Amino acid sequence: MTILALEIGPEGFAVGPVAEDADDEDIQRIPIPAEGVWDACRDLLLDVAADEEVTAVGIASAGPIDMSAGVIAPIDIAEWQTGFAIVEAVQKLFPVAVVRLAIDGVCLGLAERTFGATHSVMDAMSVTVSHRISAGVMVGGFVVVGRTGNAGNLGHVQVPGFDDPCECGGRGCLESVAGGAALLRWARGRGWTGNSLAALTETAKIGDEIAVEAMGRAGTALGRAIASVAPLLDIDLVVVGGRVAESGPALWKPLAAAVATHARLGFLTGLRVVPSELQGLGPLAGAGVLAMSADQAEE
Ligand SMILES: [Zn+2]
Repeated sequence: MTILALEIGPEGFAVGPVAEDADDEDIQRIPIPAEGVWDACRDLLLDVAADEEVTAVGIASAGPIDMSAGVIAPIDIAEWQTGFAIVEAVQKLFPVAVVRLAIDGVCLGLAERTFGATHSVMDAMSVTVSHRISAGVMVGGFVVVGRTGNAGNLGHVQVPGFDDPCECGGRGCLESVAGGAALLRWARGRGWTGNSLAALTETAKIGDEIAVEAMGRAGTALGRAIASVAPLLDIDLVVVGGRVAESGPALWKPLAAAVATHARLGFLTGLRVVPSELQGLGPLAGAGVLAMSADQAEE
């Protein structure tokens, strides 16, 4: 018997077995193909399952999703943009398995609560800033799912002082300033010549002027968004991970400055914003938590 965790990210699939002794080497990853997306996902799941009977599968997916229908419509996967019934498809593949789906941000929140920095608090937010921005909000020890499963969409929180057009159709969303795609667009528009988000974070670390300025905008915007959410939810801890969070002081200094400037209420004096220690494994680990709890509930 085996339990699987599946992550459907903007850039790729990851599948790993859920077990006490599972480690990084057990996780298999593939990029999202332009066509035959489900075929590739199915083959990866079958590969990791290795003919064992699968009793539970937890799925962390980029949004938006329809959690109750088990349908996902990730904006970065063209074939699935209008909706793909992932729960039904995985259920057909593993007929006896319990299949659970949540958005990647919610899974991140579950992972930080179970294995990470929010373990010791009741009210917190866990954020990934990478190609996209996702977050999991924990209130009173529970990770908030929302009406349709899409709660925690920090990427589309409005950031004062910014008016960049967002892919969602709005303007001034956090993701339109601090999301990886937006950062690359902004930096290239000013003459930066790199070709990836990893290159942008690396050049920011070594002081490239445009990269530092791009991360400065991102840090300020992220800090303002956090300073907006913190009083709304009365949280005292925010954990930030993802590739953009690996840019060093270019991001973290303006982020801390923005939080210090805007989060001024007395009950927010203890607000801490810290880097994640989950090394990018948050959504997949959270999918594992989903699968484990579903499996135990069935027993
Ligand atoms: Zn938006």
